[in-house]
Amino acid sequence: MMTKPASSPFTVSESVGRMQPSSTLAAMQAAESMRAAGLNVVDFGAGEPDFDTPENIKQAAAEAMRAGQTKYTPTAGTRQLQQAIIDFYAREFGANYERSEVMSTSGGKQAIFNAVVSLVNPGDEVLMAKPYWVTFPEIVVFAGGTPVFIETEETGFLLSAEQIERSITSRTKLIILNSPCNPSGRVINPAEFRRIIELLSERKVHVISDECYLRFVYPPAEVFSAASLPLELRSRLCIAGSFSKTYAMTGWRMGYALAPREWTQAMLKVQSHSTSNPNSIAQRAATEAFNGPQESVAEMLAEYTARRAWLLAALRDIPGITCNEPEGAFYAFPNVTGCLKAGLQTSGQFAQRLLEEEQTVVTDGARFGSEGYVRMSYATSMEQLREGVKRIRRLAEKLN
Ligand code: PMP
Repeated sequence: MMTKPASSPFTVSESVGRMQPSSTLAAMQAAESMRAAGLNVVDFGAGEPDFDTPENIKQAAAEAMRAGQTKYTPTAGTRQLQQAIIDFYAREFGANYERSEVMSTSGGKQAIFNAVVSLVNPGDEVLMAKPYWVTFPEIVVFAGGTPVFIETEETGFLLSAEQIERSITSRTKLIILNSPCNPSGRVINPAEFRRIIELLSERKVHVISDECYLRFVYPPAEVFSAASLPLELRSRLCIAGSFSKTYAMTGWRMGYALAPREWTQAMLKVQSHSTSNPNSIAQRAATEAFNGPQESVAEMLAEYTARRAWLLAALRDIPGITCNEPEGAFYAFPNVTGCLKAGLQTSGQFAQRLLEEEQTVVTDGARFGSEGYVRMSYATSMEQLREGVKRIRRLAEKLN
């Protein structure tokens, strides 16, 4: 009989050994096991719309299957999807991308992965503002680069060209921008965005603009894509986009990249040897998402707008909690340092107490580089928001 070796002969590679597991996915799993144990969990952890994918998009996928669109597609995605992406950016932002500059990917995450690993060399510095989406530094370290964090707490997490300028060194290769920002909800206004890109262009720094929450912006903040900038400012720019949030399509895993031809070719090389191409049926669904009626996006945005207003007021009413107004995406990022009493020292410990005593999941801000804060997704029902806030208030009052 075979016996199991005492210790595993497996040794993780250096590139993967440098990475941390995804803490947001870990929070989702923690909530899942509590639910499985029969507990009544309120989950503010998941960065995922609670809406179902719009019907026209599902229909398109069903038709694709029946029509036999079940084979490999070109690595960059079908022509129809490439064209839908090009048309969307032309219609909305007056951009004129060519097919050689457009590829579809298995989620926005793969677009960012492709873009980073095809550009960054060991020793390169990659700028990102705090708080950052957890995946950015991990992809950078996988590629052998060094993440360099820009502090923005003093400006209420608003990133400016001046802050970026202070962080640029001779080794800076790339910056990853994310507006609307996950987790802070901050939106860079169009004039500042342009100043930032002008500075980066002058300093020959490449840019990945993660526009995953592009259309979830609350007035007076404005929807802005770097695609609307003039061509000369886009020679080192890669836009990473996603269907996940805008069309409530997280499980379909569809995203895209828009970048200069040479960068796109390198990304295609990575993709051709990893996923080959995004799922063919999901590509048909994504094509319909961009080409079809857009009412569902407006309806979802209206719902997020109402939830955001309610949540912001309710959080600000809890003793010990302060909260900036999120201008985009669907996260509140309250500061809980006023609740750090009775032996609690960190926002992580606060999140843990909330989980254990109130079965309520929030994500520790330290995971995004901002100790003292927690992230709450309001892509959940009003009923859950009310119940969750009641529980947070109960813990905060207990601590006070
Ligand atoms: N960027 C940001 C800032 C995100 O929050 C996410 C999803 N959480 C993504 C990119 C990637 O989304 P997807 O891979 O589902 O398109």
